[in-house]
Amino acid sequence: MSQVAIAGAGIVGMSLAWRLSQAGFTVTVYDKGTVGGEASWAGAGMLAPGGEYEDDSPAARLAIESRSLYPAFVRELEKATRSTIDLQETGALDLAYSDAELQALAKRADMQRRIGIEAKRLDAKQIRTFWPRLRTEELAGGYFYSGDAVVNPREVVSALRKATLANGVQLREGSAVLEARVEHDLVIIRTEAGESSQAAFVVAAGAWSGSISLQGVPPLPKSEPIRGHLLGYQQPEQICQSIVRYGDTYILQRANGLLVAGASVEHAGFDRSLDLKTVDRLQKQAAFVMPHLGETTPTEAWNGFRPGSEGLQIGQWHSPRIYRAYGHYRNGILLAPVTAKLLTEEISASLEMR
Ligand SMILES: Cc1cc2nc3c(=O)[nH]c(=O)nc-3n(C[C@H](O)[C@H](O)[C@H](O)COP(=O)(O)OP(=O)(O)OC[C@H]3O[C@@H](n4cnc5c(N)ncnc54)[C@H](O)[C@@H]3O)c2cc1C
Repeated sequence: MSQVAIAGAGIVGMSLAWRLSQAGFTVTVYDKGTVGGEASWAGAGMLAPGGEYEDDSPAARLAIESRSLYPAFVRELEKATRSTIDLQETGALDLAYSDAELQALAKRADMQRRIGIEAKRLDAKQIRTFWPRLRTEELAGGYFYSGDAVVNPREVVSALRKATLANGVQLREGSAVLEARVEHDLVIIRTEAGESSQAAFVVAAGAWSGSISLQGVPPLPKSEPIRGHLLGYQQPEQICQSIVRYGDTYILQRANGLLVAGASVEHAGFDRSLDLKTVDRLQKQAAFVMPHLGETTPTEAWNGFRPGSEGLQIGQWHSPRIYRAYGHYRNGILLAPVTAKLLTEEISASLEMR
């Protein structure tokens, strides 16, 4: 029996469903809402080990590997679905507005070089020439990370929907997995519609993962929502040629002209309401970096729930029938290809399908 059920149709669950279906499994994906309707819709889409990792760690190594998988992952998806996905090899510029900030960036870049993340120092004059829209008063310099990139996560998920359906994956939207029970050589999945037997079950339910009840194995490690707000400014032309970062502010622009600025990091439970104070703060921060944004109001603002946990939860959970794929926090868009690859290998090996 080679049936695998996945709870969660975000970018992580859908990437895995695609890879498992390619490996010959019969896959059903359950989602309590819609495909890609949560964090994977909300995410900015930075593929940015340079902005996220300083020290050697398993997560940093996975991020670097996943970044290297991305171009082929996107090309393969585009080919399979005859669609276009906005993936831009833009690089990212980290800005410093004082000598102390520049020194801190230099120290960080030195640490990152040891784990294979390269950055080039730029002086204020170079930045003014190549990024004419940025604030230049008191600009001390910056570091350019040529390996960082931008993808539109909504386009990735939409292509994954097409690619998985074409491979015979069953997508059950509006169907939450309530419980999974390990019994002998099977796992029984319970939804409101009834029960089904599977060879393996993967929890890829983002911020909600820890609330899925398991019988026959210990409870899953906790997960929690880390809310993030983003702003969107629809622009008539391309004005931001790379990711730009300053402190905890970042700005990037999608190929469709939407300039995305963010982001907040909030412990607010699953509250979806827009926090206007946070929106106002993000607006001011974006306008500091790119002054002309101060003269325009964002065309949209939204939030989403990053899946927090005690570290990345990837792999088997106390049984060859149960697997975890959550806890990707700020980097789930980046980490989706490597997560799908690792779990497909692990599930294939354990169910002897290779
Ligand atoms: C503001 C913001 C900015 C971000 N920017 C970036 C970025 O630039 N780069 C990056 O790499 N990452 C970024 N992230 C993080 C990234 O979006 C997430 O890590 C990633 O989307 C997680 O994907 P996922 O599939 O695990 O979760 P989700 O996309 O949240 O999907 C989980 C799915 O599980 C479903 N579900 C929940 N409970 C159940 C259940 N019981 N049964 C069945 N289904 C269930 C949900 O409905 C949901 O569709 C950002 C996130 C936010 C909020």
